Amino acid sequence: MRQIVESNNWQVAIGVCAAVLSTVIGPLAWCAGTGEAGTPYPNMPRIAPPGVQIDYYLAVPPSARGPFVDPAMGYRTQKLGQGLYLVTDNMYQSMFLVYDSGVVVIDAPPSYAEHIPEAIAKVTPLSITHLIYSHSHIDHIGGASGIPGRPIIIAQRETKRLIEEANDAHRPVPTVVFDRDYTLRVGSQVLKLSYHGYGHAPGNIYIYAPAQQVLMVVDVISPGWMPYRSLSLSRDIPGLFRQVDEIANMPFSTLVGGHVARIGDRQDVIVQKQYMHDLAVAAKHSLSDTSFGFTVDPLDHENPWALADNYMDRATIECVNAMTDKWASRLAAFDAYIWDHCFAMEESLRAD
Ligand SMILES: [Zn+2]
Repeated sequence: MRQIVESNNWQVAIGVCAAVLSTVIGPLAWCAGTGEAGTPYPNMPRIAPPGVQIDYYLAVPPSARGPFVDPAMGYRTQKLGQGLYLVTDNMYQSMFLVYDSGVVVIDAPPSYAEHIPEAIAKVTPLSITHLIYSHSHIDHIGGASGIPGRPIIIAQRETKRLIEEANDAHRPVPTVVFDRDYTLRVGSQVLKLSYHGYGHAPGNIYIYAPAQQVLMVVDVISPGWMPYRSLSLSRDIPGLFRQVDEIANMPFSTLVGGHVARIGDRQDVIVQKQYMHDLAVAAKHSLSDTSFGFTVDPLDHENPWALADNYMDRATIECVNAMTDKWASRLAAFDAYIWDHCFAMEESLRAD
């Protein structure tokens, strides 16, 4: 049982802890104060937890790497077929589509949006006539105000609402909105836009180029890589699972995910689907295996957030351990986000 003493305005827990330490390292043993890191949980994963610096991250598998980007240029362009091009800095991805009398730009990430006109000029002298927003997030469209030519801006209605609320001069308000489906026909080119619910974010759409068999869905699939933190910062994790299932069955050859160093294909979607399935199973088992309040000091039993924190810590540890052997070498940056994914999945299973 601990005792609490006041010392320089800090409560310091002493008692069994100090006694045990003093037998190991001597009579001046320091014991963790309240709120400080104490005895490590049992079965701590080998993957470093949040807040602990990783000196050497797990190696990025060759399968996750993309073509080289010249740092002096800051971006690269990749042909996707029949007038459709990827533009990327290997961190963000956008596209442009050349048609008979103009160019459609899809997203304008601020990290390289200033280079989009020059990337287009290397392919065609035609002007930009349309700009499509995949969704409202500033990291994907925050360069829109710099796109020349006052293009028609197309987005889902929720995206327009969020941009109006943000009142951000970098993200001009869409001029054409739709609810469920929108087909853009320009010259001989076609883009099919469709909305499938929240998932990552309200208004996040699928952009399908049927002639090129290219599907762009931003912030949902990360080919070769772990999804970004909190499962791609998904506002709706059950919706994200439905979308990944749906995308795995759609008719495309090339997947543009909006992030990471390379484009993807159906196999990448299937791998992410397997990962998410395994994560859901691991999180569910961890929640049911973990007993509430088991290692919490009796003095803290009147603190419900302490009990919840301890419970979620121990459940997340079990989830991370269950995922590590199979996935640490299969998806790049497993060590960056597995703790976060387990936590997000567990909270979704508890609440959604
Ligand atoms: Zn986003």
